[in-house]
Amino acid sequence: MKLAVLSRNSKLYSTRRLVEAARERGHSVRVLDPLRCYMRISSEGFTVHYKGKPVGGYDAVIPRIGASVTRYGTAVLRQFEMMGSYTPNPSDAILRARDKLRAHQLLAAQGIGLPVTVFGDNPDDTADLLSMLGPPPHVIKLNEGTQGAGVMLTEKLSASRGVVEALRGLYANFVVQEFIGEAEGADLRCFVVGNQVVATMRRQAPEGDFRSNLHRGGTAEPVEATQDEKSMAIRAAEVLGLRVAGVDLIRSRRGPMVLEVNSTPGLEGIEAVCNADVAGRIIEYVAAKSE
Ligand code: ADP
Ligand code: MG
Repeated sequence: MKLAVLSRNSKLYSTRRLVEAARERGHSVRVLDPLRCYMRISSEGFTVHYKGKPVGGYDAVIPRIGASVTRYGTAVLRQFEMMGSYTPNPSDAILRARDKLRAHQLLAAQGIGLPVTVFGDNPDDTADLLSMLGPPPHVIKLNEGTQGAGVMLTEKLSASRGVVEALRGLYANFVVQEFIGEAEGADLRCFVVGNQVVATMRRQAPEGDFRSNLHRGGTAEPVEATQDEKSMAIRAAEVLGLRVAGVDLIRSRRGPMVLEVNSTPGLEGIEAVCNADVAGRIIEYVAAKSE
């Protein structure tokens, strides 16, 4: 297959691994920086240029689009989709997953468990909004935060109100959730490729934090998810339209719940912790689909 990886930097671990896994399997592969792809759109057809030269004819495109370039990156990806390239994660699916509020609406509508979530716009409604959620602690999340950076825990109602007011003042979009305290700072990262969970790690928040993200200093160990957890992770990715996804699940008293479906999941942590060739699984899946 002729493959392109859309990534800002070919030296990033995940990008390097995808390139390596593709070459090992005899595919031709090129890394394209999405911000250096520019396009001509006309009713006669599309053209994409890259650093002065036309590009195209890819059987498949694997997007590795960071949160800071979501809009431009998905526009470039959409262009390749319209030019006939297969992608496991279509532009619309990435946009659905990146917007936590939208993703929660879609997942809940399909009966997938998730922490009760509220959102609202007008400051006059804050008191009732928080009462719809129930008593604190609450988890407040920036709608487009990643790597745990926009996720806060408030233990008192006055703190929830204060944070909500502060975020409104900054014109930030956010959601407020019930806190799943019984998880004790742990969650599961299930790595989904197609209809399979190819690796799972249990992540544990560092002492004094509730966020288990590896970027926040969390630690991880390989685990085998239960059948229910695996099915839930696969369903969640499917509902959003992602064929490659990092699904974060939390073990609650009411059963597993989805916290987040990541459309550009990092490979470094999961490959090291699970000693697994996740990049290889992605390449094999994409090659089979793009034939
Ligand atoms: P991000 O996109 O920043 O990773 P997440 O929604 O995945 O945001 O939250 C980051 C981490 O915070 C999770 O991995 C989990 O450890 C913790 N967390 C998030 N939501 C909750 C919640 N409702 N209850 C308990 N812990 C949570
Ligand atoms: Mg997360």
